[in-house]
Amino acid sequence: NVRLEDIKRRFNNVTAIEDITFEVPDGEFWVLVGPSGCGKSTILRTIAGLETATSGKLYIGDTLMNDIPARQRDVAMVFQNYALYPHMTVAENIAFGLQMRQVDRKIIRERVETVARSLSLENLLDRKPKQLSGGQQQRVALGRAIARQPQVFLLDEPLSNLDAQLRDDTRAELKQLHAQLGVTTVYVTHDQVEAMTLADKIVVLNRGKIQQIGAPQEVYAHPANQMIATFLGNPP
Ligand code: ATP
Ligand code: MG
Repeated sequence: NVRLEDIKRRFNNVTAIEDITFEVPDGEFWVLVGPSGCGKSTILRTIAGLETATSGKLYIGDTLMNDIPARQRDVAMVFQNYALYPHMTVAENIAFGLQMRQVDRKIIRERVETVARSLSLENLLDRKPKQLSGGQQQRVALGRAIARQPQVFLLDEPLSNLDAQLRDDTRAELKQLHAQLGVTTVYVTHDQVEAMTLADKIVVLNRGKIQQIGAPQEVYAHPANQMIATFLGNPP
């Protein structure tokens, strides 16, 4: 599980996030939602170790992570602007994190094939990123992250650069992948449909603070305030 206890992050004298407390149980898919600038990416980057909390505690499992550097954390993160290695093939990109960890070659090949199949990339394994569409590239980025079988999967608006059709397809694949693998996931979006369809729980943020936490239907039906109601498309 991932547990945040009273996390705060200040940049100079601006407080980006504060009073951030929540716990994602093992295997659940949680979605952080809220308007631009509300602190979603800062929370995700703090979990990944790309940002240091000004105060508060972050646990993954039973381990306090505050002072553990990013590369020693068993997390994989996918960003909105997928950064693939241009000189490597799709297969090499997906295998990258595994080679770093010196996983056995045969296991790498099998895992690349499994991941490629579940993301419909099996016919593209020998291509280079520039020979792929944007949606295909983003699926490779997802595949590269998931192939490592991290303890925690972090996704920061991974679908927002895709057109509507691709977004729907990739969202469905992501949901299926999660059902298959059950990796604990924290997913950032400002798309209500993504939040409603993917989440076990959603965490609604505004101005750096948590407004409400709950199952999507529950938050939609009983928003704690008007900002949430309007944001989720169910205004009073
Ligand atoms: P978006 O939906 O636009 O991606 P977000 O919810 O991800 O927004 P964050 O990127 O977490 O928001 O930013 C939260 C707040 O912290 C914003 O006010 C932002 O300007 C500020 N902030 C983030 N990173 C820094 C930084 N490195 N230096 C100063 N301020 C920062
Ligand atoms: Mg962001």
